[in-house]
Amino acid sequence: VDPALIRNFSIIAHIDHGKSTLADRILDVTGALTAREQVAQFLDKMEIERERGITVKAQTVRLDYKALNGVTYRLHLIDTPGHVDFHYEVSRSLQACEGALLVVDASQGVEAQTLANVYLAIENNLEVIPVLNKIDLPSADPDRTRREIEDVIGLDCNGIVQASAKTGLGIRDILEEIVARVPAPKGDADAAPRALIFDSWYDSYRGAVIMVRVVDGVLRKGQKVRLMATGRDYELVEMGVFAPHPTPITSLGPGEVGFLVANIKSVVDTKIGDTVTDAVHPATVPLPGFKDVKPMVFAGVFPTDSGQYEDLRDALSKLNMNDASFVFEPDTSEALGFGFRCGFLGLLHMEIIQERLEREYNLDLITTAPSVAFHVYMTDGSMRRIENPAKMPPTQSMDRIEEPIYRVMIHVPSGYVGAVLALCQERRGEQKSLQYASADRVIITYDLPLGEVLFDFHDKLKSVSRGYASMDYELVGYRADDLVKLDMLVNGEPLDALSVIVHREKAYTRGRDLAVKLKDIVPRQQYEVAIQAALGTKVIARTTVRALRKDVTAKCYGGDISRKRKLLEKQKEGKKRMKMVGSVEIPQEAFLAILKLD
Ligand code: GDP
Ligand code: MG
Repeated sequence: VDPALIRNFSIIAHIDHGKSTLADRILDVTGALTAREQVAQFLDKMEIERERGITVKAQTVRLDYKALNGVTYRLHLIDTPGHVDFHYEVSRSLQACEGALLVVDASQGVEAQTLANVYLAIENNLEVIPVLNKIDLPSADPDRTRREIEDVIGLDCNGIVQASAKTGLGIRDILEEIVARVPAPKGDADAAPRALIFDSWYDSYRGAVIMVRVVDGVLRKGQKVRLMATGRDYELVEMGVFAPHPTPITSLGPGEVGFLVANIKSVVDTKIGDTVTDAVHPATVPLPGFKDVKPMVFAGVFPTDSGQYEDLRDALSKLNMNDASFVFEPDTSEALGFGFRCGFLGLLHMEIIQERLEREYNLDLITTAPSVAFHVYMTDGSMRRIENPAKMPPTQSMDRIEEPIYRVMIHVPSGYVGAVLALCQERRGEQKSLQYASADRVIITYDLPLGEVLFDFHDKLKSVSRGYASMDYELVGYRADDLVKLDMLVNGEPLDALSVIVHREKAYTRGRDLAVKLKDIVPRQQYEVAIQAALGTKVIARTTVRALRKDVTAKCYGGDISRKRKLLEKQKEGKKRMKMVGSVEIPQEAFLAILKLD
């Protein structure tokens, strides 16, 4: 196809503003799907995405659109996730595009991630086309929303398209805007090929599959290609596009987007951001890659059944192909045995990975309380990065502990400013600024310890603002504070996987709350179980799980056979996601209790 007829664009928006639904409508209008195939959020292919109604992986589709001028254009649409944990997916997708459709919910207006995504698009020099969505809602206020886009973002909103991804209103207008305003890709068809790898995943039949955007030259089926980062050569055995179903093709030219299969068996050989070139006549300079994303949240992942350790390793390696933004390394815990310490971009990312491991690889896992990475300065002047509270050096050997600080931007209607400020203060925040975005919307900026943002901050923010506040954040540095390690003991044995680092002033309440919470979570045993919270050797709180009464267990014996089997099955169910620690069974919730404290 003539590159002049290609348009590559992403859809960006704050979460829930309607990206995936709009992508569905675009698929309809371009006739990509038969009526039978038209399911909601077609591009959210993963089970988790469907259940939660969120997009985790960006998806790319190729569409042919016959414009009003009679010309058929080739569109590559890249649907992106909106949650802050998945920024890296957005920024990668954007590098494969020339334009971005900015969807703003006309009943909500500009929100924190609307802005964050626009910045990413502008950084990537994309043409940004704003669109007002959900215009069908009675609460839609297109005039106010248009003013916000002009005032807060600074985009010209003359002739802005008013659309409803629900009813299908305005979809053709959007496609016409894309054709008219998104620049065609500029690539040299005769140059040595250069294609940017912007996604990859593991397919059990094909091995590694890589998604590329061709910048220069042409890739052909059967060609010998080289991955420039490793210098390894492969034969292109298969090429395809999502149209939107996987469809085989024989070549990809400048500006085109498609997937490659090249018998790449090893996980480490594909690197997102790498350049694919010809093995015989290679390009000399690779394309600029991607900024490395750094995991910020760390947790132990252990199989409940130690026999699944190798399966877990294998599953982590494969998932890592699909999502290079999490890291893992072997870890051992006194309480939980052999497992892995994993790093994630945020808590949602952590939940998604755990869920995918369990569903797609059929594993039973225990995830420990998440922690941030601390910079620990020793008395000898050296610095250690500690990602696991259980590995904190002894107090007397440390000079100070520094924790990661996030700059948090909160968008909120002015009526809730007081409540939001109180929440940020309570979380050890330092106010940076407070600006009016419009007459009744305020942008509040705070520096907050990541440890405080992790623990249900977002839920609290939503509840103090009745759901109206939205937030975005980025790492700004590390800062020292009076931090201590809080240990939890079960029947006198410290449970290393439950240790957390907290501010000294909050240690007593956290310890007490945790002990109370654990008392309800740990199942009753034949004997009494003591739960204690301790700072060093000093116990600061204690609760007791009382022993089971005899007649309760008696039910397990005798009785008719079918009831007995049911009981046994119930017991087995209950056993799932539990781990024997010493003589006590600890369920998964215990390890995440720290996240659910009030
Ligand atoms: P995303 O997170 O940006 O991908 O948003 P989704 O496409 O998943 O949409 C979020 C919710 O808004 C879903 O319940 C959609 O059905 C709904 N929605 C999307 N577009 C419209 C619209 O134009 N009008 C109305 N009333 N609802 C919409
Ligand atoms: Mg979506």
